[in-house]
Amino acid sequence: MDKLKYKRVMLKLSGEALAGEGGYGIDFDVATKIAYEIKELVDLGVEVGAVVGGGNIWRGRNGKEMDRTTADYMGMLATCINALALQDSLENIGVMTRVQTAIEMKEVAEPYIRRRAMRHLEKNRVVIFAAGTGNPYFSTDTTAALRAAEIEADAILLAKKVDGVYDKDPHKYADAVKFEKLSYIEVLEKGLQVMDSTATSLCMDNDIPIIVFGLDEPNNIKKVMLGENIGTIVSKISK
Ligand code: UDP
Repeated sequence: MDKLKYKRVMLKLSGEALAGEGGYGIDFDVATKIAYEIKELVDLGVEVGAVVGGGNIWRGRNGKEMDRTTADYMGMLATCINALALQDSLENIGVMTRVQTAIEMKEVAEPYIRRRAMRHLEKNRVVIFAAGTGNPYFSTDTTAALRAAEIEADAILLAKKVDGVYDKDPHKYADAVKFEKLSYIEVLEKGLQVMDSTATSLCMDNDIPIIVFGLDEPNNIKKVMLGENIGTIVSKISK
């Protein structure tokens, strides 16, 4: 079998990735497609943690008139809805999963317990981390970086609608150039839209590579795992 470049990964999906064309709510055909991509990883023998955002339902910043903390808790609850949808899609195709939430809701899912999460991963269960970090003023990008550090993931797989990081929006500018490699500092200094700055800094401090790739191309996840240079890799050195 081809050699795996990464043994344990953290997959970050934005909430919008589950929404399909409409951009809102959950499209179960899309969720099933994502589930099949994740299954490919599991079948390769990769241990998979996943963090899913909530932007297809609610983001804290949508609540402009609201108390920010309350709006952020609504966002965290939105990620739980998405996590359960992803769990269902994965289990429908025979992938074992556990959802762990950063805010306790024991009737719905396990609370986040790091050692338990590690054990699930060792048993090849996909662990979906829900409710963000459990704290307002953070994002699910930061959650992915934090949990990746905690579970000692070898890399963060950042699935996007575009196939990597560009110097400007490729949907708007035909001459946009894709970066193959970037350093964390370049991402921060150039203000590139990879992850937010808190998440990028956390990855930098803990030396966790971020691989940005497009989820639309079939087999892309597999290519990343086998070390093919698709998308953009953000790590310590850019050259
Ligand atoms: N959120 C939060 N703390 C966290 C993670 C998320 O308060 O640790 C809230 C925040 O309001 C955020 C929302 O949950 O806007 C949904 O997450 P995010 O915007 O990261 O989702 P995505 O853009 O990836 O779909």
